[in-house]
Amino acid sequence: MKVAIVGAGPAGSHLACQLSKHGFDVLLFDARPAWEKPCGGGVTSKALREFEFLRDGQSPKQMISSLRLISAAGRDLTVTPSNEFAIYSRKELAEIMRQRAVAAGAQLRVARVEKTNFSNGHWLLETSVGEFTADFLVGADGASSVIRRRVGVKFDAKDFAYALGWHVRSAEIVSRVDVKYLDDASGYLWLFPRHDHLSYGIASGYQEMPPARLKEKLLAYIETEDPAAAREIRNAEGNTTANTNFYAAILPALDVKTWDGLRACDASKAWALIGDAAGFVDPLTGEGIYYAIKSADLLAEAMKTRVADFDAMWRAEFGAELRRASQLSDRFYYGSFAGARLTERMVQFAKRHRGIREVLRDLVAGEQGYTDLKPRLVRSLATVF
Ligand SMILES: Cc1cc2nc3c(=O)[nH]c(=O)nc-3n(C[C@H](O)[C@H](O)[C@H](O)COP(=O)(O)OP(=O)(O)OC[C@H]3O[C@@H](n4cnc5c(N)ncnc54)[C@H](O)[C@@H]3O)c2cc1C
Repeated sequence: MKVAIVGAGPAGSHLACQLSKHGFDVLLFDARPAWEKPCGGGVTSKALREFEFLRDGQSPKQMISSLRLISAAGRDLTVTPSNEFAIYSRKELAEIMRQRAVAAGAQLRVARVEKTNFSNGHWLLETSVGEFTADFLVGADGASSVIRRRVGVKFDAKDFAYALGWHVRSAEIVSRVDVKYLDDASGYLWLFPRHDHLSYGIASGYQEMPPARLKEKLLAYIETEDPAAAREIRNAEGNTTANTNFYAAILPALDVKTWDGLRACDASKAWALIGDAAGFVDPLTGEGIYYAIKSADLLAEAMKTRVADFDAMWRAEFGAELRRASQLSDRFYYGSFAGARLTERMVQFAKRHRGIREVLRDLVAGEQGYTDLKPRLVRSLATVF
């Protein structure tokens, strides 16, 4: 069977690799050579444990053993994750993953897929380098997926978050991640160190706060932490310079109702969606790399046996978790407890109580799910009062 995969990010490249290993004839398209996609590049220890190629010594990454959580009021708490996690440059990760796909037998084309048409059981793809045919089409083309729209899966503005930030070149190696909650919006801002630069970013609900205010919030934080970097950014005035690079992007953050109605494949019409194209991102944290790779794994498994099972497979594997994260998201960012914001209290209580610190430590490592989070927190809180 000939499979056309649109998008060679983590989802598309991993699927191309897995299917090629199992004898499928794979065409993998990406509009660009490997690139620095706007992303924190954070990969949880759960993902490192599950996917060996992420752990191997060849992939350049910054290992992280310390995370500073900062409340909107400026209280901070340093958490040591139960296992180290990694920060990747997305360009380097894309290079590694594309090479794996090609080594397994996939044909990689740097080409934009412009139009797709399904007739007589076959797909015709019009691309920037010519036409191709395939028996099955996979949309792995990210948050603004054209394939998702083409196959009729609809997301609204409420199903997205918005992020912006700067990559800043730095000679200093930092092995700590900062996450700071916002005082008047959902989401958070972050400092994620890469092995040769720092990635600063801020994410919130789509259209929840004007980009200019998000920029000012992030710059205010950078100014307190690294005045030299803040000066570089202000001097660059939004332009890319040798030392700074501005980015802005949307990411999926699906609403509960969208999770309930979501279909990521139709075997009778020979299509499937994976990764961001399918909306597989944790709506509370924005983590999507793990779900991109995991959904590719599951789809490869389903295509070897029965494609129609893919929807049941991703729902069982991580769908309930991500739906739960969506349910919790508003309460987490806007909820209050004992007269203050929940995020404020969380940092405050965790500073004093080991049980809550341990829950946070496991959450950060990706080892604590959302569906069983509440009972564990209630047990920990019972020891507080
Ligand atoms: C600011 C920000 C920070 C984030 N931080 C993190 C983080 O720290 N950790 C984490 O786990 N997740 C993070 N995410 C989410 C993560 O980036 C995504 O979930 C992940 O990249 C999804 O992988 P993917 O392969 O599905 O899509 P992508 O990585 O977006 O890849 C899609 C590919 O499709 C290509 N493409 C698009 N359209 C076409 C077309 N028509 N023809 C050909 N090619 C096309 C693109 O060029 C791209 O290479 C973040 C997201 C944002 C926006």
